[in-house]
Amino acid sequence: MENSPQSFTGSPEHNFFDHIAQTSDTPLGLNISHAEGSYFYTQEGDRYTDFISGIAVSSLGHRHPVVVKAIHEQVDRHLHVMVYGEFIQKPQSDFAGLLASQLPDTLSRIYFVNSGTEANEGALKLAKKFTGRSKLLAFRNSYHGDTHGALSVTGRDVYRDPFLPLLPDVHFMDFNSFDGLDLIDSDTAAVILEPIQGEGGIIMADPEWLGEVRRRCTASGALLIFDEIQSGFGRTGELFAFMHYGVVPDILTMAKAMGGGMPVGGFASSTDIFKVFTENPPLCHVTTFGGHPVSCAAGQAALKVLLRENYHKRAPLIEERIRRRLIHPKIKEIRGMGCMLGIALHDYETTRQVVEYAFAKKVLLGWTLHSNTLIRIAPPLTISDQTLEETLDIIIEAMG
Ligand code: PMP
Repeated sequence: MENSPQSFTGSPEHNFFDHIAQTSDTPLGLNISHAEGSYFYTQEGDRYTDFISGIAVSSLGHRHPVVVKAIHEQVDRHLHVMVYGEFIQKPQSDFAGLLASQLPDTLSRIYFVNSGTEANEGALKLAKKFTGRSKLLAFRNSYHGDTHGALSVTGRDVYRDPFLPLLPDVHFMDFNSFDGLDLIDSDTAAVILEPIQGEGGIIMADPEWLGEVRRRCTASGALLIFDEIQSGFGRTGELFAFMHYGVVPDILTMAKAMGGGMPVGGFASSTDIFKVFTENPPLCHVTTFGGHPVSCAAGQAALKVLLRENYHKRAPLIEERIRRRLIHPKIKEIRGMGCMLGIALHDYETTRQVVEYAFAKKVLLGWTLHSNTLIRIAPPLTISDQTLEETLDIIIEAMG
């Protein structure tokens, strides 16, 4: 430790590798200078196409001007003033009102938090408190976040095992399988699922099965939680993926694209259900920064732009172009919907080669956490036709 301020001014590379806790032995380590639209740029002057939108965050592209303006305006008014929930803060209230206008009445109240995993923490607590039950049901191959509660309902042992014991009374079922749904019973507080499993490898729920899960939850009094943290805010072609299915959850969790590039999450439910969150204990889910005013100003602006420009309606058009262009013997199938797609290949080695080739050509593709033979495709909904075609050409070229 050195105390002179000069000692803190090492290069960003040095500080990144020596002073930021690393999340892997092989970080991509790009040194970012700025970002705009579908591109980000490095300090070395290279331009990369962001074909995964910072993992389903930059759905309007990077730094959408309307979002940036809303951020500037809010920064000039106020930043944090009080722990969440006490004061009327216009950016939060306006954002909640706009969201509610787009959601069914039973989801017209929102609790703002900071992230996806925190949204799921809040949703699980709300379901336990409302039902007075503790049993939680989730699905294999799911991903709900990395804090202890969300990890407890994440369906992949390799991520869970090092942190056992997690929450008790959590049980897993097979996604899209009618077998095992008998676990949904009068002891169940909640069933949590992603209508389209993201990290599990872009697996869409079967509509009939999803309807059956809904029916069983209603019959047993268990609350149904949809985690739309990845699929939300237009990525699949509707504002939320549940809208394609016509199956409405009791609690909807959201984050990622919600803040137009700023950090914010939330869980929506009904007035009746949320009533239990105001007492015993008082302040059931304390979150100092939840619904930060700058994030909410950005989120409200992003949602307005999405709805005004109908960018979510571009998702199926982009999907159609992708499916038309990405035809190659090495591609087993393309899964998913709208701009939440996965290219399934036959083996890991080819998958790695394609991702690395594209990266060398300055196109950022990605993996999903639970699959090593699937390439994640999640472009901004605002990507231009030309950038899209150029990127697809590179992916096909990468297939060899
Ligand atoms: N749920 C889903 C479906 C996700 O995709 C993610 C993030 N990949 C999370 C929860 C966790 O979100 P966060 O990283 O904001 O905590």
